Amino acid sequence: MVPIQQMTPAQAAGVRFVLTDIDDTLTRGGKLQREAYAALWALHDAGLRVIPVTGRPAGWCDLIAREWPVDGVVGENGALAFWENPSGSGAGTLQQEFHPEAVTNEHPVLKRIQERALAEAPGLRVARDQFSRLFDLALDFAEEEPVLPLSLAERVRAIAGEEGARAKVSSIHINVWMGNYDKLSMTERFLSRRFGWQSGAEDGAVLFVGDSPNDEPLFARFPLACAVANVRRYRGLIRNLPAFAAEREYGEGFAEIVSTLLEKRGEAEPFRV
Ligand SMILES: [Mg+2]
Repeated sequence: MVPIQQMTPAQAAGVRFVLTDIDDTLTRGGKLQREAYAALWALHDAGLRVIPVTGRPAGWCDLIAREWPVDGVVGENGALAFWENPSGSGAGTLQQEFHPEAVTNEHPVLKRIQERALAEAPGLRVARDQFSRLFDLALDFAEEEPVLPLSLAERVRAIAGEEGARAKVSSIHINVWMGNYDKLSMTERFLSRRFGWQSGAEDGAVLFVGDSPNDEPLFARFPLACAVANVRRYRGLIRNLPAFAAEREYGEGFAEIVSTLLEKRGEAEPFRV
């Protein structure tokens, strides 16, 4: 990782899509930071396509697609993408796409994993947002108290693997699902189907910002992948670190990346943090 300030003006000029994780990338302590939300608006106003890519549930993605200044959202670690088609009257129409390999979270293997994980990891609990999920099981180790060690989250991820499910550790949850997809595969599908993005030829048009191990597929895929400074917590757990890093943490780091991007693109009134 090199400082985001080392991104070249040519690299910045080629960006058309800004993808971002949400938890601990736009938020700090669970709250969406003012700098981060202002940065989303600045990207929107600059005409860039903005797409959060998150482990958060379908129910949250409905709100994000409708209310945030974004062009779509990829949720539940790649099970779905929601976006709003604008209409002349101002009331948009929500569009929903589900990954063809997404499997409902009623699957008996997920029930078994939940029972095993809760029995073998004292203090672990089902995430409070589980009721609004369609495809994954979210186990909370750090969103609420007690905050449990990452080593325990890794143990739960291993249990899910032993039972035949996929699992990723974010900064707050272990997400477990049955289908063959992840944040990256759904993001690529959404970009190409919705915006005509061409894999390979247009890799440099995508800037991604994340913070934790569940962002690794995107860190590894895009040459302009970036991390907020709190990614350092996971150094031992992420093999593929992104090319660039912010000096600042959480939403302030996201705002630093956005303001650097816009400045290097020569925006008339660059967004300041
Ligand atoms: Mg995160």
